[in-house]
Amino acid sequence: TPAKPVNAYTSICCYCGVGCGVIVKKEKNGSITVEGNKDYPVNKGMLCSKGLNLHYTVNDKTDRLLYPQMRYNKSMPLQRVTWDAALERTAAVFKTFIDKYGPDSVAFYASGQCLTEEYYVVNKLIKGFIGSNNIDTNSRLCMSSAVAAYKLALGEDTVPLCYDDIELADCFFVTGANPAWCHPILWRRVEAHKAANPNVKIIVVDPRATDTCSVADLHLQINPGTDITLNHAIGRLLIENGDIDIDFIRNHAEGFAAYSELVFKRTLTEASQICGVSESDIQLAATYIGEAKGFITMWTMGLNQSSIGVNKNLSLINLNLITGHIGKPGSGPLSLTGQPNAMGGREVGGLSNLLPAHRDLKNPLHREEVQKFWKSKPINPLPGLTATEMFEALESGKLKAIWIMCTNPLTSLPNVRQAEQALKKAKFVVVQEISNKPETLAYADVILPAAAWAEKEGTMTNSERRISYLNKVTEPPGEALPDAEIICRFAQKMGYKGFDFKDAAAIYAEHVKLTAHTNIEATGVTYEVLKEQKSIQWPFKKRNRTVGTPRLFTDKKFYTPSGKAIIHAVPDALNSELPDADYPFVLTTGRIRDQWHTMSKTGKVNKLNKHLSESFVEVNPHDAVALQINDGDVMVVRSRRGEVQIKAKVTSTIKQGVLFIPMHWGKLLGNDLHRVNNLTNDVLDPISKEPDFKYCAVNIQKY
Ligand code: SF4
Repeated sequence: TPAKPVNAYTSICCYCGVGCGVIVKKEKNGSITVEGNKDYPVNKGMLCSKGLNLHYTVNDKTDRLLYPQMRYNKSMPLQRVTWDAALERTAAVFKTFIDKYGPDSVAFYASGQCLTEEYYVVNKLIKGFIGSNNIDTNSRLCMSSAVAAYKLALGEDTVPLCYDDIELADCFFVTGANPAWCHPILWRRVEAHKAANPNVKIIVVDPRATDTCSVADLHLQINPGTDITLNHAIGRLLIENGDIDIDFIRNHAEGFAAYSELVFKRTLTEASQICGVSESDIQLAATYIGEAKGFITMWTMGLNQSSIGVNKNLSLINLNLITGHIGKPGSGPLSLTGQPNAMGGREVGGLSNLLPAHRDLKNPLHREEVQKFWKSKPINPLPGLTATEMFEALESGKLKAIWIMCTNPLTSLPNVRQAEQALKKAKFVVVQEISNKPETLAYADVILPAAAWAEKEGTMTNSERRISYLNKVTEPPGEALPDAEIICRFAQKMGYKGFDFKDAAAIYAEHVKLTAHTNIEATGVTYEVLKEQKSIQWPFKKRNRTVGTPRLFTDKKFYTPSGKAIIHAVPDALNSELPDADYPFVLTTGRIRDQWHTMSKTGKVNKLNKHLSESFVEVNPHDAVALQINDGDVMVVRSRRGEVQIKAKVTSTIKQGVLFIPMHWGKLLGNDLHRVNNLTNDVLDPISKEPDFKYCAVNIQKY
């Protein structure tokens, strides 16, 4: 490989959890260009439309926040202040609330887009020094159901396989996901594998016929919310057909008897009626899986974002367990992470119920270990507020202050108008942001300008446990600072020790020390190792190794107390807001190909906006005829929580009785009538506390 020019830096795309490698070049005029890194194992030079246009988001500084701003009371306007003034006043306000109402009166709400170092310092600050566990991130809205299911089934929040297993598999079961649009480069690998090996089978489960279905051998267009029934029906057929791994079940798993008893309670005919797919298609899916030598399950928000999300995940992982398709080449459950560093955030314990290195907040020994390491005050054993709970607590007045970093909850939370009311009532709001666009800024008492991607260094971990280093390429505009530095400066203003890190490498070094002797040990990983070896998959203990751990559980020893994987017999009862006479349709939400989350970055790129320039509601032609809806008509869609006004897209790709609206659009020119989360329901999964974004009852009529 020819030597890279000196102005070329390696980094990782900051959008989805695929984690593609990029080369960022700095031009003489200070602007940057981005291209795929041909040497990076994940994408081998390929990038999707979002990654290919990353440079626009960095070069266009027109929307950037340039200096700290503050208002002294709610009736005063924001004014420019120095960093010291902003952080000193914020520290004074936080101290006042903590003294008067206790540490749980403040909270931090962060993001799966934060770098690992940023997560680490904010988690250390609140759990170790403020004395509250009120830190959560938008990963709660994304992966928390998968996290809980992995822990329950495998004893650890871990993805057991690697992307290279794709080329070794001969059957893919893709459910609740549209990777052709949402994880495109990974999906290109599946497509290429299928093209080279036509016998490879792809089964897609989705109420919508998405682009992912275009290469599928079988599309099971299920009724929303019926995933567990389908997975159980397939499980039953695998047992009946003798396509299970008896040796694995006997020697390496627990719970099969109860599972078998449960899945045999429902006949195939019943399952077919509940799911809305034919018996023969369910049988064909079971046949494809039963014949597979390598079987990969893939999923994302369709399973996770549900009030029964953990059970949906468990019912899917069961298919890998009963067939013994885990810990061997081309096999395993592969959750597709929505965000670039949701996994890194979990590694440092950046959720309200976690401690660093996947330690358990409930475990007194774990709390003591972390407290001693941090030299902090005792860690509160009670879980903190989760994402939606924070906003409920703001509204009730229990929570006084919230610090929002790197996320835009006023577009992304469910039942978002209620969250808006909560921010109105908040006593003190800090917004740490790169852009002047997010709706949260209207409620901010303090605005802290942050450095963006390529303007700071750090690390991220992708969906296959691969830790990579992201170079700093260019300076942030104005007075913007890296997020980790902002948090450390604030911690020092609070008078806390342990935040005088020399640089991001020092933060990373402290984080990996805490991983020693855990299942996610990464003590061999330093910035030097990452720069030299480009990326490492944890666990990785010794610096003299050259590769990490691509595949886990090859010895069939799991991280549960018994060392066996656990097959969970989970009920298939739905816990969502069901359609009725007033709200007869089911609404589901999702991403479109060329936008990312709440569009504060991708929305700046003309090329990306051209793909689908405005929001829409997908309506099945049969429903359209019944309601006399024509393509392009402006519709009002209402739920019990709010309404939107958007154009109808009449398409047979959506199942009858179901509507689909993209998640990306928030307020446009102050108007929130494209914002789908006006409609969504904030009912939560009882274990993961992940909201039910994919299912609520709505009605629809012409405007
Ligand atoms: Fe970025 Fe994901 Fe696209 Fe790769 S697939 S370029 S990580 S958005």
